[in-house]
Amino acid sequence: MQHIAILGSTGSIGQHTLEVVRRFPEKFRVLGLSANSNIALLSRQVKEFRPCFVAIADSRAAEDFVSKFGAKGIRLFAGQHAAGEMVKDSRLDKVVVATSGSAALAPLLSAIESGKDIALANKEALVMAGPIIMRRARRKKVKILPIDSEQSAIWQCLDKQPSFKLKKIYLTASGGPFRQMPKEGLKKVSLRQVLDHPRWKMGKKISVDSATMMNKGLELLEAMFLFNVPAEKIKILIHPQAIVHSMVEFVDGSVLAQLSRTDMRIPIQYALSYPERLSNPLPGIDFYKLKELDFQSPDFKKFPCLGLALRVAAQLGTAPCVLNAANEACVEEFLKGKLRFTAIPEIIEKVLGRHHNRKEPVLEDILSADTWAKAQARRIIARSN
Ligand code: MG
Repeated sequence: MQHIAILGSTGSIGQHTLEVVRRFPEKFRVLGLSANSNIALLSRQVKEFRPCFVAIADSRAAEDFVSKFGAKGIRLFAGQHAAGEMVKDSRLDKVVVATSGSAALAPLLSAIESGKDIALANKEALVMAGPIIMRRARRKKVKILPIDSEQSAIWQCLDKQPSFKLKKIYLTASGGPFRQMPKEGLKKVSLRQVLDHPRWKMGKKISVDSATMMNKGLELLEAMFLFNVPAEKIKILIHPQAIVHSMVEFVDGSVLAQLSRTDMRIPIQYALSYPERLSNPLPGIDFYKLKELDFQSPDFKKFPCLGLALRVAAQLGTAPCVLNAANEACVEEFLKGKLRFTAIPEIIEKVLGRHHNRKEPVLEDILSADTWAKAQARRIIARSN
């Protein structure tokens, strides 16, 4: 029996994780749940899964939770550091990090410090502080098991081969909702169009990132840190069917790919059950219906976020953190209707241009670069409005 905590249990990945847990009550027991503010859904999850502890990041929502639903028999953690405190409990074996954004960094580091294996869906924390996270995980002998479908594919294809046996990673991308739209059309896209992804149903932040293709840029950085691979070895490949979730080419010329239906429950389940493979009721791929798998090179002119990600991948230091922070601030403003879609890469580029990169950063450098870049992005946006 594996005892797990799910950070971000009310989000898209969190809910899918609970679906997997529901199918294997003899394998997984949820001891902890955390959410930001969706206490209505959280209370239903608490009723069903009976966790020992609950963390709510928004203090007001935590008070509401207690007054509306009570917290009998539950240890409640409230406030900004709630999830980071909860994951320290010694009964936990694994922590599923399913929250989005840079806020996941602190609880992720806390879980690693207390020796918990990590099933990682969040990419922002790794982009910000990849080398620090991987170093600490190695020191604590903690496994980082990827949930992001592309990273899960690479991880499965690598299958413990050392990274020097690897010639290339083909990081696949569906191309997002605007793959076929001409560049000029992007200037006028609405929020609704941005949130309407053709292949995946996801949270808002990652949906915007998929539309700008920053998501693939973040994944490139994520893969560099997770698998200790330089940027030159990673090729982004547009693959509209989203059936091949990534491929690995080895030094002997063999290419291994991982294919599956476009369903996050598959990589979630593997990150939970690893190294075991558990059965799954989902229908498989119908190759007779599928007929074709297409691959194309990405359009760097239409999606400047890809070029920005490659630029910081060459610089490293605090640059990836700044890219991520500026992007996060831009996405927030875009979701509020305060920023045009095509202005997102423009603002990020401006912030990167003002940044003095710090090589070999310690955690404090990362945290201050994050705060600085978000403030810079917001200032530039406010001035242009
Ligand atoms: Mg992905």
